[in-house]
Amino acid sequence: MESKLFIDGTWTSPAQGGTIDVIDPATERVFAAIGAGTAADIDRAVAAATRSGQGPWSRTTGRDRAAILRAIASGLEAEADALARLEVRDNGKPLAEAQGDIADAVYCFNLYAAYAEQLDAKQGEAVAVPDSRFRTTVKYMPAGVAGLIVPWNYPLLMAAWKVAPALAAGCTLVLKPSEVTSLTALALARICHAAGVPAGVVNVVTGLGRDAGGALAAHPDVRKLAFTGSVPTGIAVATAAAKDVKSLSLELGGKSPIVVFDDADLEQVVEWVMFGIFWNQGQVCSATSRLIVQSGIASPLVERLSEEARKIKIGDGMSPGVQLGPLVSRSQYDKVMGYIEIGKREASLVCGGGRPAGFNAGYFVEPTIFADVSPEARIWTEEIFGPVLSVAAFETETEALALANGSELGLAAAVMTRDMERAARVADRFEAGVVWINCSQPNFLEPPWGGVKKSGIGRELGMWGLMNFLEPKQITAYQSTEPWGWYLKPHANG
Ligand code: NAD
Repeated sequence: MESKLFIDGTWTSPAQGGTIDVIDPATERVFAAIGAGTAADIDRAVAAATRSGQGPWSRTTGRDRAAILRAIASGLEAEADALARLEVRDNGKPLAEAQGDIADAVYCFNLYAAYAEQLDAKQGEAVAVPDSRFRTTVKYMPAGVAGLIVPWNYPLLMAAWKVAPALAAGCTLVLKPSEVTSLTALALARICHAAGVPAGVVNVVTGLGRDAGGALAAHPDVRKLAFTGSVPTGIAVATAAAKDVKSLSLELGGKSPIVVFDDADLEQVVEWVMFGIFWNQGQVCSATSRLIVQSGIASPLVERLSEEARKIKIGDGMSPGVQLGPLVSRSQYDKVMGYIEIGKREASLVCGGGRPAGFNAGYFVEPTIFADVSPEARIWTEEIFGPVLSVAAFETETEALALANGSELGLAAAVMTRDMERAARVADRFEAGVVWINCSQPNFLEPPWGGVKKSGIGRELGMWGLMNFLEPKQITAYQSTEPWGWYLKPHANG
């Protein structure tokens, strides 16, 4: 099944028959193969999604779809342990983190079941207009065939963030998971089918980004594109979407700051800074990878961080107690190691900086901290997407904000201080879509998620995520018996 694509409710071989090896990042061994879908497979999948979007699925209510979403959540929950282990093997993350991802995916489907029911109540809501002869209502139509393209850092969860709202809205969809981590997306297709999703409503086409992803982004019958990934790919997807004026949402990269004032609780800061950069091996779009610390506490904080970073337990994500697994792939490993070498030339290495001792295989990288990083340094401005923290010091709040906002990206930002007035002021001035006060990375599925500047367009999660897959339609009715009086009985209009 792994090397097949899920199209129109059946498992089918890719048109060109190719496969892509699946590698365990902890051992570098091939343990599976997925199908190399291409444009011909995307064509079939989009055709199936288009057909099913015109069939009985288009007549379902939010309540009908809620039942299916809850069945998907139950299906995921029933296989949670196996799915978490599969994610560890495919992605490398520690088991406890993978278990958290699967639990979040279950939560996500249940949450969108509730939103689907709420959508029924919103259908036909009146909008007050200033002319009593008219009555205006709003209906929310599914956006149509949705193309969903997701990355490898939270394979199942990123798919859930898109599949759940798309189904809640009544869309049909084609999901293109990352070629590096497609296995749980294929499992999701199987679970959706078992949960009663009609044939053609959910299609999963694995394959390379430029082939399957490119074809999906450019397909004229895809009406909505929801993409999560890097900025350069996001620009390529947006360019392809522009050709057909598709509705588009982009969740792109980040280089998020965490600003620490000298009144903050040092031990709390150590905990959240570490969570913000080492969780998921630092392969987190919202990772707070730039630590901006007030100069009075810079030295003690960096010292405490390096002391704790050295204690992080590194290993195969399946080993008990492991806190840092391997990076996801050889190319990500090479990219992060490349940035570490650049960092050694442009800043002061405080800890880490290489491959951990005793690891002969696997894409393992030590937790790494650089201090005295200048705002022009590449490790300060470019997204590394690995366990690498860059630290710079500041004197004043104005200076801290200038450093924090001095980025072309604006996904998230965090501030740590005991002064809540200052926290609120800084939160208001951060140029970011997500702000954390005295923490970093907690993520709930009810609030909006997304970035400003080059970090993206639109918002996912919560009701905002549902709106992404809906087209509001205004229906305005003239309900007066009086003639309108423009042509037939014209007013004296000069
Ligand atoms: P990527 O851009 O390389 O790939 C993302 C997806 O796009 C994959 O499925 C890939 O196959 C596909 N793709 C590649 N080329 C394509 C093309 N030309 N046309 C269409 N699709 C194409 O990103 P990645 O390396 O998988 O993920 C890491 C990036 O994702 C980081 O930049 C990270 O910040 C970002 N990310 C953002 C969020 C967020 O919510 N903002 C969440 C997770 C990851």
